Amino acid sequence: MSNGFVDKVSITVRAGKGGDGAVSFHREKFVAAGGPDGGDGGRGGDVIIVVDDHMSTLMDFRYKRKFTAGDGANGQNKRCSGRDGESVTIRVPRGTLVRDRETGGIMADMSGNEPFVAARGGRGGWGNQHFATPTRQVPRFAKPGIAGESRELILELKLLADVGLVGFPNVGKSTLLSSVSRARPKIADYHFTTLSPNLGVVYVAEGASFVLADIPGIIEGASEGVGLGHDFLRHIDRCRLLIHVVDAAGSEGRDPVEDFETINRELAEYSPELASRPMIVAANKCDLLGDDHEGLERLKKHVTELGYEFYELSAATTAGTRELMQRAAALLATLPPITVYEPDYVPPEPDLGSAEDLEIYEDDGVWYAEGPWMDRLVSTVNFGDYESRMFFDRILRENGVYEHMESLGIRDGDTISICGMTFEYQS
Ligand code: GDP
Ligand code: MG
Repeated sequence: MSNGFVDKVSITVRAGKGGDGAVSFHREKFVAAGGPDGGDGGRGGDVIIVVDDHMSTLMDFRYKRKFTAGDGANGQNKRCSGRDGESVTIRVPRGTLVRDRETGGIMADMSGNEPFVAARGGRGGWGNQHFATPTRQVPRFAKPGIAGESRELILELKLLADVGLVGFPNVGKSTLLSSVSRARPKIADYHFTTLSPNLGVVYVAEGASFVLADIPGIIEGASEGVGLGHDFLRHIDRCRLLIHVVDAAGSEGRDPVEDFETINRELAEYSPELASRPMIVAANKCDLLGDDHEGLERLKKHVTELGYEFYELSAATTAGTRELMQRAAALLATLPPITVYEPDYVPPEPDLGSAEDLEIYEDDGVWYAEGPWMDRLVSTVNFGDYESRMFFDRILRENGVYEHMESLGIRDGDTISICGMTFEYQS
């Protein structure tokens, strides 16, 4: 779409790699053999997504789609740890959904204030200072840092509004929004003036308010991809109540009842669920009716027979707008709160191997299991989290790591050290 409004983008995020651990030995004049003093690598930086209430579109992402956090620095001698990599913060408008591009799964709904870590930096490797034991005083190895996560994301803006205005272009949606709130959307008497959604806060009484959204006009054929299409309808996905604005005066030569039905069909094509959302019908431009109330009366009969509440108003003169807004507020009080999407993204299981692909050995009473797939596994496990630790334990068991250690003589209570994570063995 070339109108400058951007509400869906794909971006690439890459967290930083952990720095490598250092191999180094303490040196001092007149001291013959110093101990190992290689420091640890720093942690890779994260890519973090946060809400910015000053943003209302995803426009900025047109120009910047790649976000890369800094790598952790390598460890140094004298037990100096490498610096952690710098994290990168991505700002998005409130209401942005973060999806995994490959599966489409929702990773986060940025409608609250919690930051979301979209890609976690890799851990730094341990320096050789950690690997000295009474029998191995000269460890000539350290651990490499682990790669940071990287993924393709889709950002999709779904506005957080309680009430959405729907209807044909030019029926007066933007005028209505500007007459009941301090929002100042563009108003004009040619089609498609509203190319980006506008939000306004409507205050109905002391302390009672709601957010009203004016979205671009839906036109016939939108469901077949003609005109603005359905892209914009995602902005009313979260709305708890719809106000269907109809030009009751038929000022553009169309019929109000037909208009009403056409828009409802479009809504249903997009989402049957949306079409059954609570809806009030607002017959606008009543100031233009003069003596001809035929269209208005027909519309009123049609919609009330279908069970909709019906309001007559003039957004231009503001007649009837107060009553409509008060009714909307009263209805909202009875409706469930705004939809927040639960994450449904399932991370893929890391690409693992078997015990045979690992180097498994005992050294000075400590058991090690090393190899590329173990590094991959460890980089996906959050060891601060019980569930994750259980998952890790299960994988070690299922993939024959414990069995292999048992065949080499591991006993309950022995220490296992994997990628710097140390724990006790329990058969
Ligand atoms: P939208 O496309 O639905 O947002 O429609 P707009 O709010 O931009 O209005 C389209 C045209 O209709 C503008 O020229 C408005 O001034 C006019 N208009 C909107 N509401 C009324 C109304 O209640 N009475 C009259 N006479 N004109 C109106
Ligand atoms: Mg408009």
